[in-house]
Amino acid sequence: MYRSHSCGELRELHIGQKVTLSGWVAKTRDKGFVVWIDLRDRYGIIQLVLDEDRTNAELLEQARNLGREFVIQVKGEVIERASKNANIPTGNIEVLVSELTILNESKTPPFTIENETDGGEDLRMKYRYLDIRRNPVKDNLIFRSKVAMEVRKFLSGEGFIEVETPYLIKSTPEGARDFVVPSRMNEGQFYALPQSPQTFKQLLMVGGMDKYFQIVKCFRDEDLRADRQPEFTQIDCEMAFVEQEDILNVFENLTKYLLKEVNGVEIDSFPRMTYDDAMAKYGNDKPDIRFGMEFGELNAVTQHKDFGVFNTAELVVGIAVPGAAEYTRKELDALVNWVKRPQIGANGMVYVKCNEDGSFKSTVDKFYDQDDLAKWAEATGANPGDLICVLSGDANKTRSQLSVLRMEMATKLGLRNPNEFAPLWVVDFPLLELDEETGHYHAMHHPFTSPKPGQLAMLDTDPGAVRANAYDLVLNGNEIGGGSIRIHDKDMQATMFKHLGFTPEEARAQFGFLMDAFQYGAPPHGGLAFGLDRLVAILGGQETIRDFIAFPKNNSGRDVMIDAPAPIDNAQLKELSLKLDIQE
Ligand code: ASP
Repeated sequence: MYRSHSCGELRELHIGQKVTLSGWVAKTRDKGFVVWIDLRDRYGIIQLVLDEDRTNAELLEQARNLGREFVIQVKGEVIERASKNANIPTGNIEVLVSELTILNESKTPPFTIENETDGGEDLRMKYRYLDIRRNPVKDNLIFRSKVAMEVRKFLSGEGFIEVETPYLIKSTPEGARDFVVPSRMNEGQFYALPQSPQTFKQLLMVGGMDKYFQIVKCFRDEDLRADRQPEFTQIDCEMAFVEQEDILNVFENLTKYLLKEVNGVEIDSFPRMTYDDAMAKYGNDKPDIRFGMEFGELNAVTQHKDFGVFNTAELVVGIAVPGAAEYTRKELDALVNWVKRPQIGANGMVYVKCNEDGSFKSTVDKFYDQDDLAKWAEATGANPGDLICVLSGDANKTRSQLSVLRMEMATKLGLRNPNEFAPLWVVDFPLLELDEETGHYHAMHHPFTSPKPGQLAMLDTDPGAVRANAYDLVLNGNEIGGGSIRIHDKDMQATMFKHLGFTPEEARAQFGFLMDAFQYGAPPHGGLAFGLDRLVAILGGQETIRDFIAFPKNNSGRDVMIDAPAPIDNAQLKELSLKLDIQE
């Protein structure tokens, strides 16, 4: 028997008991006549003690020579500690060692295995297995497991069946590039790894599995963006014989359940906001509604004077930043420069200080009088003491610039409390999105999303205006899930492919299986997927999804521990009928 107890579980009630423990040497402190060892396992740390009075000399010597991260087994007796440590749960006791076995030695680890480590990100990733021994990483993985368990518990309770769908498939478009896998047995042919199980879950609906879920890996070969992983995990769901409202209710309940079970937070019901409202009020389809600073549109109250910048702008829009009227000239200049950085790209920023005495002081006093500025304050909801920040220009660009400014100011003002949760549904997304570069429309969600009833004909006349039965769940300014009611009619699906620029032949080659299935009694259906990594990070009150993934890839999509991706040898290339390395 390697252990009778775990290191973390021993308490005062165990005093007097003989125990066997196994774990890693976190630390040894050698005071000459006495040696203390911190022994660590997944469950915690326990102090071991050996001294000249009570331990034989050979054993004491052995303890002295233990290196950090050696794996040892000890037998001993639980005793009360002379000097107690209130900071750890086992701090009132220690184990007086009578036997010690080294189970395995360890090289000195390249960084300290402590909550605050001296290891940089790269080093920690290269030795991730050592990083996982540290509490912050270990606790995140345990937390993730709990969230996943609770998801399974809730969904099974609702009658959902977990079904695995294949990883070696044909492209499922979610707007990214596919990772492909060459087939050895089918020369010159490739599988694609699923960007999502979208088509399979729809086929499961045709198969009559009316409530499906799966905690599943998805693969998207996207350009690098901060905190994206090329492989990530979804809680993927689909239901048949449902309308949008049914789906929103089930997954709102799932989210409430998780917030309650995992965070102890109770939330009544989630607000619903249309995409158009979200864009107009927050400049963003995933608004953080933990704080105000809603957009005030100012065209009507700014375009009547001689200020050319505003008069020629498609949109003039502002936010009232609470308490920021006190900003110094230097701080304000810094803010203006900040919005003008290429990453944000504003041409400039007009601001108005709303003084405590009710007067206003703006950077455009030359053009606007106090009455004008009072109207701006009204439109942005500004109070005395606030600073109104105004951007102008092309409507879409200006909205997204102001949205970035809004988030920045909220962060600065400490309004983004990670322990406060503000979920909402954003609904009525546009069906299509114009690609500015090619001038073509793409599916905003994916090509299987259904338009709002009665709007199909608009695809010919005003495609950009067609709204979809599509929805996102947003939590604290992050999209944590999204889905839609699907097209289940083969003709409508064919029409949709046509509008997305597929020839009938292309549509058949890529999605023939789905269109065929739709000829055999496809039920009305819809669903959604939550990003598990992101959800877990937010519930865990943290920002980075990497910290909740056991073996994540770095920002270049590499696993630096196993050193992947890597070249393969010519023999393997040949077997796969891939071109040989031209060097040889
Ligand atoms: N397949 C979609 C996605 O990955 C989710 C859905 O529509 O259910 O975003």
